[in-house]
Amino acid sequence: VCAYEPGAIVSDACASYSTLDDLNADLRPYIDSLTQKTDFFSYYRLNLYNKKCPFWSDDNDMCGNIACAVNTLENEEDIPLVWRAKELGKLQGPKAQHPGRKIQAERPSKPLQGELGADVGESCVVEYDDECDERDYCVPEDESASAKGDYVSLVDNPERYTGYMGVSAQQVWEAIYRENCFSTPQDPFSDTASEAAKQGSFGPSSPSGFSNPQQLHAAQDLRGVIKQHGLQQGMQQAIARGTPTRPLDDGLEFEDSCMEKRVFYRVVSGMHTSISAHICNEYLNRTTGEWVPNLQCYVNRLHTHPERISNLYFNYALLLRAAGKLRDLVPKYTFCSADPKQDAYTKELVVRLAQAIPPGSEIFDESVMFNGNGALGLKEDFRNRFRNISRIMDCVGCDKCRLWGKLQTAGYGTALKILFEFDEKNPSNNPPLRRHELVALVNTLGRVSNSLNAVKNFRDILAEQEHAK
Ligand code: FAD
Repeated sequence: VCAYEPGAIVSDACASYSTLDDLNADLRPYIDSLTQKTDFFSYYRLNLYNKKCPFWSDDNDMCGNIACAVNTLENEEDIPLVWRAKELGKLQGPKAQHPGRKIQAERPSKPLQGELGADVGESCVVEYDDECDERDYCVPEDESASAKGDYVSLVDNPERYTGYMGVSAQQVWEAIYRENCFSTPQDPFSDTASEAAKQGSFGPSSPSGFSNPQQLHAAQDLRGVIKQHGLQQGMQQAIARGTPTRPLDDGLEFEDSCMEKRVFYRVVSGMHTSISAHICNEYLNRTTGEWVPNLQCYVNRLHTHPERISNLYFNYALLLRAAGKLRDLVPKYTFCSADPKQDAYTKELVVRLAQAIPPGSEIFDESVMFNGNGALGLKEDFRNRFRNISRIMDCVGCDKCRLWGKLQTAGYGTALKILFEFDEKNPSNNPPLRRHELVALVNTLGRVSNSLNAVKNFRDILAEQEHAK
């Protein structure tokens, strides 16, 4: 009942949260050391500035400048300059240029330490361009061929509150969720969901019949449970979660439930939850200038929306399964060809991490997905929608948010690629895994691991408050 299968609901009720929390406590030391202490995993190459938003005019993209800050914060001009949204959203720390094709052509296989520039303190970072594979789930950063992007320090640019909000942020989230609107003829439920989401119309007379998107998605989840575990349990969960049962009573066809579409939504929502958790956990107190946890922020954005937290746990299980699938691959990987000491340290941590993850499908069973009729087309659709999300990230109007948004999309893309394109038993046909994919995967796992920890801390504070009453 409590398996972290794509169709199952990870919930408090079946103690899955505490199982994953315990696992997270064991794995965090490896994940933290990898993301904070190794050159290989703490620098990420991306094209942060040269790509235009392909979906709408950048005129709306005003949240990286003072104008947006003035719109969204009442007394922005009273705030010291360094605490204004524009400053908070800026990237910090040294950046290094991509070495360029010419140098790469001269040294095709052996990157040398220091070639990114003597004064940037980077080593073991540079990667060499190679061609994409049609099985990738993200738009590769080197798509444009002309501008390959720069290397950015992830340690110097932590994901936290930046003040980015308002029209631009809203527009990006809306566009991302719109990608969830698959429409397959055999899934009428999904069509009404798409229609409702397109029109932004949730209300008594909306096509979906739900008063808000959360209710709709909760009901979609329930259909999965019902399909797997029977109607009675599904109804029990509905009652326990306060989810309206009316659509189920309406006699909708449960059997056409499409697990893949739910998984897509949960990945996006879980990513959103993780971003919100970081914002709330490292919130700027504008009076003291300190970065502090903001309990009210957590209550408003996450605690009162248990399905969002459930999706965070879901993503953790999914990412862990993907990382665990690499357990036989990572010992053979060269992490830093120019520095054997770093290579050994990095490799030891990655191998330990991959081996500490429960093997096989114990945590997450991807084999139940993309199996039925039309699986190939659905998979292609799934992949294209994911690529679109990665393009939408170029519309994020705050540099730091765009950095982490792009990295996490690439991280989930890599996880999906490993889950659905990698064969553990017959690895010879696996697509190549590039450096930036591995860096994105491990850092995305690091983000979710951090978010779980933050959510747990917030939960504990609330429980203490409740106890003290
Ligand atoms: P938002 O978080 O903007 O949410 C919009 C709507 O989506 C909500 O009203 C709700 O209906 C729905 N929703 C919210 N959470 C979920 C969920 N988990 N699942 C499903 N639906 C949900 N701000 C920072 O301060 N630091 C950052 O690093 C940062 N990174 C960002 C990265 C990206 C890619 C984007 C698009 C925005 C980022 N932002 C960041 C902005 C931040 O996410 C919020 O948009 C902003 O704080 C305003 O929050 P809000 O409360 O209005 O709701």
